[in-house]
Amino acid sequence: MKENRIYNFNPGPAALPLPVLEEIQAGFLNFAGSGMSVTEISHRSKWFDEVAEDAIARCKRLLKLDDNYQVLFLQGGASMQFCMIPMNLLPDGKSADYVNTGTWSAKAIKEVGILGKKCSVVASSEDKNFSYIPKNIPFNADAAYVHITSNNTIKGTQWAQFPDTGDVPLISDMSSDIMSRPFDVRPFGLIYAGAQKNIGPAGVCMVIIRKDMLERVPASLPTMLKYTTHADKNSMFNTPPCFAVYTLQLVLKWLEETVGGLDKMAAINRKKAEIIYGLLDSSDFYRGTAEKDSRSEMNVTFRLPDEELEKVFIQDSADAGFGGLKGHRSVGGCRASVYNATGTDAVEALVAFMKEFEKKKG
Ligand SMILES: *Cc1c(COP(=O)(O)O)cnc(C)c1O
Repeated sequence: MKENRIYNFNPGPAALPLPVLEEIQAGFLNFAGSGMSVTEISHRSKWFDEVAEDAIARCKRLLKLDDNYQVLFLQGGASMQFCMIPMNLLPDGKSADYVNTGTWSAKAIKEVGILGKKCSVVASSEDKNFSYIPKNIPFNADAAYVHITSNNTIKGTQWAQFPDTGDVPLISDMSSDIMSRPFDVRPFGLIYAGAQKNIGPAGVCMVIIRKDMLERVPASLPTMLKYTTHADKNSMFNTPPCFAVYTLQLVLKWLEETVGGLDKMAAINRKKAEIIYGLLDSSDFYRGTAEKDSRSEMNVTFRLPDEELEKVFIQDSADAGFGGLKGHRSVGGCRASVYNATGTDAVEALVAFMKEFEKKKG
């Protein structure tokens, strides 16, 4: 841990790799020899063009995307995608399948109704407080797409394998686990991720869209809400969030060059998860809230014996230099978000703290 910095378990905006922050700091007043900060240059300058192109190239290499996929940098957060997806990709007269695995899925589903379009919620884990990922889902073969949330940031669950939807394109909100592990992109028509959990700061949402999906975009939509507007202009139709894209580029560079790619990242994330779930499983004091086969490697949600102890735990952990361990306000309890930038050292330190806390209070 670096002096004056805490062990950061924030759910989002969340920890960024220290080398990335240091590189931003070092180049802040004179970016790439431009004599300006990256926040002061034109988005149409050669300097920014290189940043955006490099970010796209790295994203394509990391996820092994072929030329059928286009990477876009949009604004409005992941939440804007909840409405843009049905507006652009759900034709009138068709229906889409949605799987409801918690808060963010539910918000995506709600937008379909607001637009007066049709969807079926083909599976839900609401019956058990969203503590698991549904299995054996009866997808509709004629659905326009299937929407899932790959990692449920609030409930602490994650799809271990993606469902087989046949010829129906998958769409996933990957805000809280994109770039945490490799996966086969080919079944996906669209992937989106607000950057502020795992790949950058707030202000940019990365959208990866397969080119055939662009053919569905209706001409009647407002310009800024059409994927084709942004795809045709390579995310430069209007001013992109330059600083956020720049930071995202550095995070992807760190992933490729320092970590060594997504297989390596996944192994590190698996180990981190094992350390912390190992403690939960061996303790009668801490109790994980997600079912074992649905546990998230990114957001570890757990409870203590009572809410009073949880309050003390959150306070004492903060005093000891661990930030962000409070559960989402809608569910309570505790949550350790262990995104890519939160290292094994932080997880080991947290587990040592938790054992000590249990000894004192258990
Ligand atoms: C945080 C989060 C969102 C919301 O992202 P915004 O960028 O704030 O709109 C959506 N989906 C998931 C899975 C999230 O974790």
